[in-house]
Amino acid sequence: MTQLSDPRRGWTSASSAEYDLLCPARHLAQKGLSEGRSLDADFGQRIHAALAKRNPEGLDSDESDVFAACMEIEGREVAKFFPGIDPKKLVSFPEHRLWVKFIQEIDGAKVTLEHSAQPDRVYRVIGYPRALVIEYKTLTGDVPESPRNLQLRDQAVLVKPHYLVSEVGVMVIQPFVTHQPEICLYQEADLVQAEQEMFVRVRASNDPRSGRIPGDRQCKFCLAAKMGTCIEYQRWAGGMMPVMLSLMDVAPKDWPPETRKLFCDRFDIAQKWLNDCWAAMETGATADPKFIPGYAMQTGAIREEIVNPQPVFERYIEIGGTPESFLECVKVIKTRLKDRLKIITGASGIKLEAKLKELASGCIEAKPNKASLKKVEER
Ligand code: SF4
Repeated sequence: MTQLSDPRRGWTSASSAEYDLLCPARHLAQKGLSEGRSLDADFGQRIHAALAKRNPEGLDSDESDVFAACMEIEGREVAKFFPGIDPKKLVSFPEHRLWVKFIQEIDGAKVTLEHSAQPDRVYRVIGYPRALVIEYKTLTGDVPESPRNLQLRDQAVLVKPHYLVSEVGVMVIQPFVTHQPEICLYQEADLVQAEQEMFVRVRASNDPRSGRIPGDRQCKFCLAAKMGTCIEYQRWAGGMMPVMLSLMDVAPKDWPPETRKLFCDRFDIAQKWLNDCWAAMETGATADPKFIPGYAMQTGAIREEIVNPQPVFERYIEIGGTPESFLECVKVIKTRLKDRLKIITGASGIKLEAKLKELASGCIEAKPNKASLKKVEER
């Protein structure tokens, strides 16, 4: 886990626009709370950094493939958005944070509010009143994003005065979802309306009188939910539990279909609530050993891994082992083998996949994961 300083300087930002609209108190409820980043976010972060530099150096083969796909989609769509433009006049700007300041009156006092957006890349043409904003979504688990979402709308609003343009197109490049992204074009009047709506939302987010409105989307990543400091979330998510408990009289296999559906619909929220409560107990017990009578934080089990196999192999041979029997103890990590193969052959993308397939042909055992229950479209 890596802890990062807050680039938003404690103000609202476009990235949480949708959640702030759903719960106007969410921004202030999270003030002063923090948590680390996940490894998956670091994977996305590395690709974003490479796309900002336009250089895939240092990425592993999977990350390089995503980088190449983003660049390919971007080149094609930019040419379509600025047709017939002299390429020498086309300029692009890597990720950078744009700020807006405005005045809010709270309890008779004038307060300066700030809000920011960080487009991943902005294209514009010198002497042409149009800009294109690009947002990259590079994780396999990313859900499909619409270019009409509030985050991109805020970005378009902030790009307009910064780049002195009157039309802004926005596009999400998400190679795991589609290679044919949609571009949403905001014209001058759309941008004026979007700006007004953005100001209303940001004012509400900075107003201590705004109410907390719990819900699935806004509470999912809210630190107030995770750290156990939001009573409204507590009531809403905890309210799922009595419904669960009322099912106790009948064995699950005998529940009627509508009860099964109700259980499945509410399972995620109830489980997240239990996990959030458990995380709050762990945080409390870490800070104060007497926090929970009869419970204490225990250090995790130590897992050992041989990270330098060469001397182990040499010692093994020295005491009479054979290379063949040593190989029986070795597990080859496919992604690392792919990285090595990329360096040796210089291949990437589909060609690299084909080379890996050829190299490992007849030597792979494929095991499906356990089947899992998922929500599907109702017929
Ligand atoms: S946990 Fe939910 S209700 Fe509470 S502040 Fe966060 S988003 Fe709002």
